[in-house]
This record gives sequence, structure tokens and C-alpha cells, in this order.
Amino acid sequence: MFADRIERARQEMTAKGLDALLLSVGADLPYLTGYEAMPLERLTMLVVPLEGEPRLVIPKLEAPLVAERDEFTLLPWGETEDPLDHVVTLLGGAREVAIGDTTWARFVIGLLDRSPELHFRSASEVMTPLRAVKTPDEVERLRAAAHAVDRIAGRLRSGEIPLVGQTEAAVSAELGRQILEEGHGKVNFAIVAAGENAASPHHHAGDRVIRENEVVLCDFGGTMYGDDGVGYCSDLTRCVYTGQPPAEFAELYQVLQDAQAASVAAVRAGTPAEDVDRVGRGMIAAAGHGDHFVHRTGHGIGVEAHEEPYIVEGNTDQLDVGNAFSVEPGIYVPGKWGARIEDIVVASANGPDPLNIVDHELAIVG
Ligand code: ZN
Ligand code: ZN
Ligand code: ZN
Repeated sequence: MFADRIERARQEMTAKGLDALLLSVGADLPYLTGYEAMPLERLTMLVVPLEGEPRLVIPKLEAPLVAERDEFTLLPWGETEDPLDHVVTLLGGAREVAIGDTTWARFVIGLLDRSPELHFRSASEVMTPLRAVKTPDEVERLRAAAHAVDRIAGRLRSGEIPLVGQTEAAVSAELGRQILEEGHGKVNFAIVAAGENAASPHHHAGDRVIRENEVVLCDFGGTMYGDDGVGYCSDLTRCVYTGQPPAEFAELYQVLQDAQAASVAAVRAGTPAEDVDRVGRGMIAAAGHGDHFVHRTGHGIGVEAHEEPYIVEGNTDQLDVGNAFSVEPGIYVPGKWGARIEDIVVASANGPDPLNIVDHELAIVG
């Protein structure tokens, strides 16, 4: 798998006139190697020349963390060495170089100081075309992660996870615990927003105690790792109501549920990404809530929780078979309440392949 990915990266490099690829902190490195660099001050950097062996420049003390592989070899550096000297040597005569988007600026500046003739470009030129199109194996890994959080949402909907009388923070911690228990290696977020807090799309769960007769919006996900060290993300939003919802909220929720379903149904290869956004947004606007849907419809997902393609007005790129992304419209009424429904959907050869299968109706819990 890694050999194939490195080969495809080199094809992109050739097509784009790049001499070398440098990857450090971030998701591109584990995607190509199965190893995630520690986001600390010591340099870890994979150097992929157009031809010849890729080398992973890595602190000597962290080298034991890397599984030995045929696809690249390690170049461990000691505490008194300057690792950028190794990178410059490995680059040789390379001039047009793609560098990872989340590389510390300190190292980018250090490389340019040593080799002013280098011309850096974004590694996403190389990596995005690879990462945005999932292989069948990647789709199944995303599906396994999706089904894991579906089971947690099922327990929220059934009332098995207590809400009333708990703080948002306590429920968030419980969701995090269950994300790990369901086989994820890492919790990425667990938003719990009650009542008026549900009008804030990225609300931070706090001391607010959940009461009877209000909406509770839960948006949570993590990263599930395979044996090869590569992790794939889950991301799911469901809402429950702690009592019988007033008609006004039930109507709002029905508009949202219909809009989300219509956007999911619009997912097919060849469709411009923005059309998926327009379908649901149009329905929400027609119901008078246009100003209350304040964010894009979705984001790609894979080794990162947010990646290409973005489902947003202005993204005219046609969906490809294998694109995986969220469809998550929301309606937010400031100071009052809000709701969002989110599924991960893959554009398959046969149309939409929704990875999340837990019910979408507003669940009423006691
Ligand atoms: Zn989410
Ligand atoms: Zn999302
Ligand atoms: Zn509204």
C-alpha cells in the first residue's frame, strides 16, 4: 500500500514539475508511511526525491517508534546535529520542492536560509489528488469508524446515555470514553450543546446543566487506526430532545432532516460539489431559515477530520468516485436553539453511499 502511494505521489510530482517532496508534522506523512511525526520541536521530515530512496530524517530517540519498511529508510539524527543539514544534503540539486502545509515555519525558514535557490510549493498539490479519492479499502475503514460512532448515537437516542441533570462537559467526556471503547485510538472532538448553546455550531461543552424539554446537539468523532498505523476519522452529528419538542422546533427539525436527505441524495460522481450544498440550502432558505444556516454543507474526511473536497458554494469541482465527505446542514437560531444533522457520505459508482446509518429523526428522550 505505501509503495503504491509513494509511486502515485511521484506521478503527481512529475506531472507538476516537482523535484522533491518534504513531509513533516501532519497527516500526509502517516498517509505515505504509517508514521505520524511528533508535533514537537525536533525535526521529523520525509524526503522523497523524484528518483531514489525516500529517507525519513528523524530524531534518534524517536527512531524506535517507526516500523521498519521497505519503502523508505531512516536517517536518525543525534542531539548535537542540525537535522536541516541532512535535509539539504538529501535534496541535492532539487529546486522545485513541495513541502507539507503544516510544517513548522521555523524549518521552512531554516531551509530557505541554507538554500535560497529552493522554490517551495504546497505539498497539497501532490497529496490532495491522492487523499481525496478513497480506495475501496479506505472506504471500508471509514465505514467501520462511522458504524462505531453510529452505535454511540444509538445509545444517545435510546436514552441509555443520561442527559438531563448532567453537564454538557460530563456528557462530552462520556462520548469521548465511548469513542475509545468503540475502537478509535483518539478522540478528535465531542461537542455537546444544550438548548440555546445548540445555536453555536462549534460550541465548547461546558458547565451548563442539561434540562428537561430542550434540544441537545451532539457532534463527535475520533480516529480509528489500522495495523499499518494509518488512521481514518469518524464525524457524526445527531440531536435529541429531552421531552416533547414544541411544534416550532419540530417543524424546524423536519425542514433540516428533509434538506439533509436531499443533499445526500444529490451526491453522485460528476456533480459539482457546490450543487450538494445548494440543494439542501435552497430547501432551508425556502422555509425561511436561510440566514440561520451559517456554514458550508460539508468537508472531506479521511486521515484528517477535515480535508478536500469541501462542499461549499464556489467549489465547482465535480465529485469523483471515492470522494468521502460530510453532509451536515444546520439551522441555528441565536439565543434560542439550533440543530444539525451530519452523515459521512461517499460518492460511489452507484450514487451516494452513506456510511452512517443511525436514524435521523429527532429522538425524544426522557
Ligand atoms: Zn461533526
Ligand atoms: Zn463534520
Ligand atoms: Zn430560522
